[in-house]
Amino acid sequence: MTDAADAISGAATAADAPPMISMRAVDKHFGKLHVLRDINLEVPRGQVVIVLGPSGSGKSTLCRTINRLETVDSGTIAIDGTDLPAEGRALARLRTEVGMVFQQFNLFAHKSILENVMLAPVKVRGIDKKKARTEALALLDRVGIANQADKYPAQLSGGQQQRVAIARALAMNPKVMLFDEPTSALDPEMVNEVLEVMVGLAKEGMTMLVVTHEMGFARRAGERVLFMADGQIVEDSDPETFFTAPNSDRAKDFLGKIL
Ligand code: ADP
Ligand code: MG
Repeated sequence: MTDAADAISGAATAADAPPMISMRAVDKHFGKLHVLRDINLEVPRGQVVIVLGPSGSGKSTLCRTINRLETVDSGTIAIDGTDLPAEGRALARLRTEVGMVFQQFNLFAHKSILENVMLAPVKVRGIDKKKARTEALALLDRVGIANQADKYPAQLSGGQQQRVAIARALAMNPKVMLFDEPTSALDPEMVNEVLEVMVGLAKEGMTMLVVTHEMGFARRAGERVLFMADGQIVEDSDPETFFTAPNSDRAKDFLGKIL
């Protein structure tokens, strides 16, 4: 379609929508260490992207720049078509659109599970407590632990705590969810209950970036694999291609070690 015809039809098609995550020429150093090198990435709405790579390759830093836990030296990052502002209220607002789940659950130890999930919606989004409570209970139900709402984090298993952390991130109604090795700190028998919640989110159409070593999950839920090495995206392909026919020696070497 020509630009003119496009303008006349005026219909917002999926092809017209801005990418949910857009990174252009992003560079980042920690001192002399060049941790992100010319990162260019567009993630369309609803895509589930798996990020793989050796330790120290920049996976966590990539995630942390997307919700601005880390600043970048140069380049731009946009969420759903809006550039991440440098600071201030606009940044705080945009940051709520990007939920993040870490290896360590980081729940508030002295607050109940329900309070953990209600806190940010009440404090940051200004939602009234009654509504926040109803929404929090619905989210806890969605991650399968509504019956634990009045307990404290230490009374829950690691898998349950991580599901609370996911519910807490979802409570801000994010457009994007970032997961940084969400199951790496869990006992093996608890990994699947967390991955199941993530598979459910993926099926519901959430845009997700997932750093994980869980290859079963990567193949099942992933639509795209980014392989990072030395701060660069070295491969960007569909999971089948990546796992069966990786291009680079770095990826072949990596897969040889983990599969
Ligand atoms: P990955 O998640 O792939 O293991 P990271 O993004 O955590 O890699 O780290 C990339 C590199 O940056 C590593 O060499 C790491 O030691 C370094 N790094 C990470 N965070 C910091 C920081 N806050 N200060 C200095 N160096 C850091
Ligand atoms: Mg990491």
